[in-house]
Amino acid sequence: MSISPKCKYFIQTYGCQMNTADSERLSGLLEGLGLSAAESWSEAAVVVLYSCSVRQAAEDKVFGWGKKIKEFNEANDQMINGSKDQKDISIYHSAGFPTRADRGQAERPFPLFILTGCMAGSARGERKRFSEKELKHKASFIDYILGPSEWEQLLPSILVREGLVSPERIAALSYQPKRKVGQTAFVNISEGCDNFCSYCVVPYGRGKEISRSKNEILAEARHLVEQGFHHLTLLGQNVNSWGITDPEHKRNIRINSDTALPFASLLREIHEINGIERLSFLTANPFDFTRDMVQALALPKVDRYLHMAVQSGSDTVLDRMNRRHTIAEYRKLIASIRKSVPDIELGTDIIVGFPGETEEEFSETLRLISDIRYNVVFTAMYSPRPGTSAATKYADDVPKAVKKERYARVQDFLAQQLG
Ligand code: SF4
Repeated sequence: MSISPKCKYFIQTYGCQMNTADSERLSGLLEGLGLSAAESWSEAAVVVLYSCSVRQAAEDKVFGWGKKIKEFNEANDQMINGSKDQKDISIYHSAGFPTRADRGQAERPFPLFILTGCMAGSARGERKRFSEKELKHKASFIDYILGPSEWEQLLPSILVREGLVSPERIAALSYQPKRKVGQTAFVNISEGCDNFCSYCVVPYGRGKEISRSKNEILAEARHLVEQGFHHLTLLGQNVNSWGITDPEHKRNIRINSDTALPFASLLREIHEINGIERLSFLTANPFDFTRDMVQALALPKVDRYLHMAVQSGSDTVLDRMNRRHTIAEYRKLIASIRKSVPDIELGTDIIVGFPGETEEEFSETLRLISDIRYNVVFTAMYSPRPGTSAATKYADDVPKAVKKERYARVQDFLAQQLG
């Protein structure tokens, strides 16, 4: 088997900063294996789709690749061998993947398609929302589905097995995320989420919350400073719960309480590293934002922009969303943040048309937006995600026209307020 030294990869990333940060790591891994970045997917030997499941439209973008690939395959008769001689990669077998030969595709056109991210995690993790078979049926062009916590371990062997990377490369593999110098450097501090907000796919797509060790994070932060990065963004689905291993303790932490948070201590330690000029984090939620975090926000290098999703201004809607705080508690939190950091800018996310949202509940959201005077508000119309508890428990009973009208009213309101 001869392996082309010019083997190229292409990554298409959808969704949040977490996926962007993971894609930087994935680029680093692929380049560590000897591949180089392609300008476009059609010149790549390996295409990785880093998927998002937050809305149906995001998943439809992945399904839309079927048409593109069909056109590509019709126009391109480049073929590769089936790499039958690589059948002894045990990790690959233990993961239960069929080979190309097993699939009756000893010869097939480039490129090899890998699906990862939240759609893949939703089909392969412990907390499945749909089966892998279902996903493969809808996206038959995909060769491998690897959850976001799997690709790092499995992808190198798969590429060897598919004849795209030489086995010696794995033994010599060492890599760093491929970041763009001059911009903020993303540092993953945790993966997954255990909060189960009722509308959200993340606990399924990304699995259980697992925190990276403090030593690893600090070492990465110092290394990044040496490489010339002075603005770091710490990433987790809910950064406030970083480092908390006891699930009961995690569930019982409450907004505005006196609970000391390991994440606040981590912020303080990273803040002390010489060379760091600005420190941001994504995403914090109100329900476990304690006084310790309010104090940490006042550290001089911590970013003066805080993005924290509130989702609704109504207690009853928040309860249906399983958000574990009231609006009175949230208002108190915002007041204490503003007292502690008077120049803070605030951003939030709002969902309109959540199941059962009445006109009165929606007006409470407008009232909240009016009172808080956010600097940034991202608004989304609720879309049920199969497998989540909101989709199972509640009918999607706010008509689309009403969702659109409420969305437009938020936009008009913000335009008046910000303009
Ligand atoms: S905190 Fe809630 S909204 Fe955020 S990722 Fe976890 S379940 Fe989703």
